[in-house]
Amino acid sequence: MSTAHLTGRRALVTGGSRGIGAEIVRRLAADGAAVAFTYSASGTNAENLVAEVTANGAKVVAIHADAADPAQNEAAVEQAVAELGGLDIVVNNAAVAHMAPIGEYPPQQFDRLVAINIGGMFWTTRSAIKHLPDGARIINIGSINADRVPGPGVSVYAMTKGAVASFTRGLARELGPRGITVNNVQPGPIDTDANPDEGDFAESLKQVTAQGRYGHTNDVASFVSFLAGPESRYITGANLNVDGGFTV
Ligand code: NDP
Repeated sequence: MSTAHLTGRRALVTGGSRGIGAEIVRRLAADGAAVAFTYSASGTNAENLVAEVTANGAKVVAIHADAADPAQNEAAVEQAVAELGGLDIVVNNAAVAHMAPIGEYPPQQFDRLVAINIGGMFWTTRSAIKHLPDGARIINIGSINADRVPGPGVSVYAMTKGAVASFTRGLARELGPRGITVNNVQPGPIDTDANPDEGDFAESLKQVTAQGRYGHTNDVASFVSFLAGPESRYITGANLNVDGGFTV
């Protein structure tokens, strides 16, 4: 169901060129928001998404920004504010994964995961705070792996997503008096480039969900749109699973 419950709202989605982020861009725009999104490597996807969403009559802006770089995160926030005329919703979605046993974990991958998954969220949020009005929304995309890790090799990725959960709680406490909600959406296995339904780990992941299957990007995007809207006003500091029963 699409409603116009975000009409007049302005949103920034990090990592919006593909996967869950792209679906969040589509959904927020369909629900009435003007949307800016960042991308890094997937310029063609970003262009195509802008064309698609614009053709549906919404305002959408693609911003090239590497989430690993503090200055580029800050510049992306400033550009979003300038192009949209303000900012009411921030969705920290950009993240990367690298799976390896801890004794063999490449140091550069550790740095990359920390810089993008934690640093990108921190710098984007820090830059956005001064622009956000009372009642704004911050929605972080964490992972069910913060709560449950059903196999080896996931420790560093899970650690970064644990940081997303903790950051969410702390920030919710800090911004509560202003009515700004901060929530952490924790997807289970969702069919994207990062975790394809037909990938190496797919069967084992399906077996640990109660529903025995992957979710779709829209399962996450529709929930993010609800959290971005006015009716979620009393939900904050929460780690909210969209996981087909991964933790049951
Ligand atoms: P994808 O790999 O499919 O897409 C990742 C997105 O993040 C792309 O748009 C990519 O843009 C962007 N991105 C990656 N690195 C950077 C960077 N350095 N700077 C800017 N943008 C960047 O991932 P998903 O859609 O699957 O994941 C989205 C979110 O959901 C992540 O936070 C992930 O951890 C989380 N998640 C996903 C699950 C799943 O099963 N799919 C499960 C649990 C959590 P570009 O290509 O342009 O660089």
